[in-house]
Amino acid sequence: MKKQIGIIGSGTAGLQLAYALKDDFEVTVIHHRSQDEIRNGRIMSTQVHFGSTRARENRFSMPKWEDDHLLNSVHITIGNQKLFVGSLNEPALSVDQRLYYSYSMEDLDKQGVSFRMERVDKENTESLIEEYDLVIDCTGKSGPLFPFPIERDLSPFHFPQRKCITGYFLGIKPNHPLGINVTVLPELGEMFEIPAMTEEGPVTILFIMAIPEKELDAFKGIKDPSEFTNRMKGTTQKYFPDIYHRINNDQFALCDDNAYLQIAITPVIRRSYGMLDDKLVLACGDSVFLNDPITGQGCNLSSYCVEKLASTLLEYKDLPWDSELGKTYWNRTKPFVKQVTEWTNAMTQPLPEHVVQLLLEGAHDQAKADRIAEWFADPRKAHEAFFKTTIKNNS
Ligand SMILES: Cc1cc2nc3c(=O)[nH]c(=O)nc-3n(C[C@H](O)[C@H](O)[C@H](O)COP(=O)(O)OP(=O)(O)OC[C@H]3O[C@@H](n4cnc5c(N)ncnc54)[C@H](O)[C@@H]3O)c2cc1C
Repeated sequence: MKKQIGIIGSGTAGLQLAYALKDDFEVTVIHHRSQDEIRNGRIMSTQVHFGSTRARENRFSMPKWEDDHLLNSVHITIGNQKLFVGSLNEPALSVDQRLYYSYSMEDLDKQGVSFRMERVDKENTESLIEEYDLVIDCTGKSGPLFPFPIERDLSPFHFPQRKCITGYFLGIKPNHPLGINVTVLPELGEMFEIPAMTEEGPVTILFIMAIPEKELDAFKGIKDPSEFTNRMKGTTQKYFPDIYHRINNDQFALCDDNAYLQIAITPVIRRSYGMLDDKLVLACGDSVFLNDPITGQGCNLSSYCVEKLASTLLEYKDLPWDSELGKTYWNRTKPFVKQVTEWTNAMTQPLPEHVVQLLLEGAHDQAKADRIAEWFADPRKAHEAFFKTTIKNNS
């Protein structure tokens, strides 16, 4: 008989895990929002799946999305100076999570994965632990449900470093070449412009990362879609003129009334395994690896850890599922989690001088510009650029 795995959460981590595990184990996804609620509900995030994540989605045999809106480049502007457009080695893709999640749930259901609609509370985790051979906590930023210990050296912040303000808009002429457009306004925050696919067609995501209490933090108290749209237009006109000039005033609108979000995240990294009542419990995704969205790594890190977890479970298929397995999984993911986290945390602080220099050099050297674009696709390269040079400079 196949071992029974209960995955709590139907987000990036939970669904990718279900695909990766479904052929070898009896998988149940426990979730508290139905497909329809997800599909027709509020956006919870933005998302860019870089080449390595898209390759893993292929290896997990996940649904394929149309290739019409592939993102091949990263545009970098500091202040009002456009520095360069770097090319990505492999194209990235941004599909509205409302569509990606609901469609994947429908597809997994057809392929025999069980779905159980239930909001799991901390109080009723015991019965789940008894019921399944293994429970995996993929509850995202609202988790975890289990007391996974905090990794203090990777969790330096006690409050959010940015306010995340984002909406999915119609009526913006896409940038050219199609790509992710990053504008850094020193001491104020950042704007990420991301072309994305939604159920209704292509949109442009405008995603402001505002340093709290500075001028970009200008959306406090806004709870109405039209007020949000007007404020975004005004903020874009004042601070991001390149984007504003591509806005068609008659068409500029949210793609639907649920396509906006304001949130602030306190990053925290936890060890991804624990023993409860002598039984192993694991976690994957934001429930244990919660970073600020500033580097756009959350889905990519979740997916990386999914693959490590799935291969570890397969290796231990006929062995006891105990803390040894948990430790193996954690040791396999920790170096990458550390690199992503340290780079991401550094990006929320004033950029080090040597990084600013690298960005300026990218303006005159296409090979350097391309290497900087690759930081987002392979955060190990970003980590190397941020920290090796720092060590060299300091020594
Ligand atoms: C504003 C913003 C912008 C972002 N932009 C990017 C980006 O550009 N690129 C990128 O890679 N990442 C980005 N991220 C991060 C990315 O969205 C997350 O890292 C990713 O979705 C994590 O997946 P997850 O499965 O861990 O969590 P989620 O996708 O949040 O899924 C968690 C699931 O658990 C369910 N759940 C929670 N609690 C319970 C419970 N008690 N019982 C049952 N079910 C439960 C939820 O309903 C949900 O289905 C962004 C995040 C934010 C907030």
